[in-house]
Amino acid sequence: MIQKVLIANRGEIALRVIRACRELGIKTLAVYSEADVQSLHVQLADEAICIGGPRSSDSYLRADRIISAAEIADVDAIHPGYGFLSENAKFAEQCESCNIKFIGPKSKSIRIMGDKSVAKDTVRKAGVPTVPGSDGPVESETEAVKIARKIGYPVIIKAVAGGGGRGMRIAHNDVSFAKEYHVARNEAEKAFGNGAVYIEKYIQSPRHIEFQILADTHGKVIHLGERDCSVQRRHQKLIEEAPSPFLNADLRKKMGKAAVRAAESAEYQNAGTIEFLVDAKGNYYFIEMNTRIQVEHPVTEEVTGIDLIKQQIRIANGEKLEFDQSDITWTKHAIECRINAEDPSRNFTPSPGTISLYYAPGGHGVRVDSHVYSGYTIPPYYDSMIGKLICFGSTRKMALQRSYRALSEYLVRGIKTTIPLHKAIMSDPTFIEGKATTAYMEDFMARTPTDLF
Ligand code: ADP
Repeated sequence: MIQKVLIANRGEIALRVIRACRELGIKTLAVYSEADVQSLHVQLADEAICIGGPRSSDSYLRADRIISAAEIADVDAIHPGYGFLSENAKFAEQCESCNIKFIGPKSKSIRIMGDKSVAKDTVRKAGVPTVPGSDGPVESETEAVKIARKIGYPVIIKAVAGGGGRGMRIAHNDVSFAKEYHVARNEAEKAFGNGAVYIEKYIQSPRHIEFQILADTHGKVIHLGERDCSVQRRHQKLIEEAPSPFLNADLRKKMGKAAVRAAESAEYQNAGTIEFLVDAKGNYYFIEMNTRIQVEHPVTEEVTGIDLIKQQIRIANGEKLEFDQSDITWTKHAIECRINAEDPSRNFTPSPGTISLYYAPGGHGVRVDSHVYSGYTIPPYYDSMIGKLICFGSTRKMALQRSYRALSEYLVRGIKTTIPLHKAIMSDPTFIEGKATTAYMEDFMARTPTDLF
């Protein structure tokens, strides 16, 4: 049985894991960088160990130091959160070989899904629709152009090791293809140390709809419904909601079954997410699987009433899932706004610094997952997300009204944030009518005066 967990992360997700552990009576060990001495996760965990310098490459990405900390403090499991080492198959393997439970899937599943073209191949064989594209990575520019012509422009060039929207370029003809192919390769090489790319048909204005999977170690795989994450900027999510205003019960059932098949094809265990693009006609295509907990997991928690972090720990403990697919119901609507320390009026430039005053909203149907407080200084080394506002109610309308109300109460002084942007979106007719696709943000920014933010 897991009695002590090392949390190999920082920020709000580290707090989220500490909270779940505490409710389960499990002790926690925080690890932190020299830039995070003042962080709440360090203060709230039962124990904390400094693992290195401010840069992630000197601390949160140092598998050797994290495993040493785990051994010194005698923990029996590691929760990787999201980002950092969460999708690193080698790290999961190291944990396995040191007899420390990795709270996530087996390294083999991470490896399959971590290479996006292997992932597509694997799920396609299981009968799950994928976006038409190259069979695996493309070997040369000449071969790539041939494939792009065959698929038909526009196409999207994507890094096989991709993540976070990086290494992804769109080409509309042979000329732009030649340029974007090299840009994508260079970007991928820089970001992931792997320049391999593959090609897909570029789907015009799709929705991004993903399914939350839970799979235990006894072969049971279920889904907890979908999240609509179509509001994105530069392929990065800004707002997520559940259920999707686009899906009907029939499509939800079909996509849910496909998601379960996709997870089974990689012998998946623990919590994971199957991402699809859905076109206007309701055709859906698998794009990738995230083999970890996701930033947007709270919207699923609020509509299903299931604590996903506790489920992850229970599964890692070898316990059976307590529910069947037919037990899962969606009785509420939830919307999450990502609060980033960025200036939306200046092309979303990061806005690190000291928060002079912080007041988080509350009241019925409001949840804030955040690690910041008045006087907290945001270090410039990490992700710009400083919190997540999740509002829920019995209807989508209620969740929207509540989001607007809560955003109006949210005070963050001393830095710029995305709060005013979210307020503008919550009162925008296209979003209110549930019509946002992945093309929404570009259009919204073009028609909205930035002095509003
Ligand atoms: P990452 O792993 O970098 O997040 P994804 O494969 O999950 O990359 O894609 C991120 C986003 O990029 C999608 O949600 C979608 O908005 C856009 N995208 C990816 N593939 C396509 C495609 N074939 N057609 C249109 N948009 C795409």
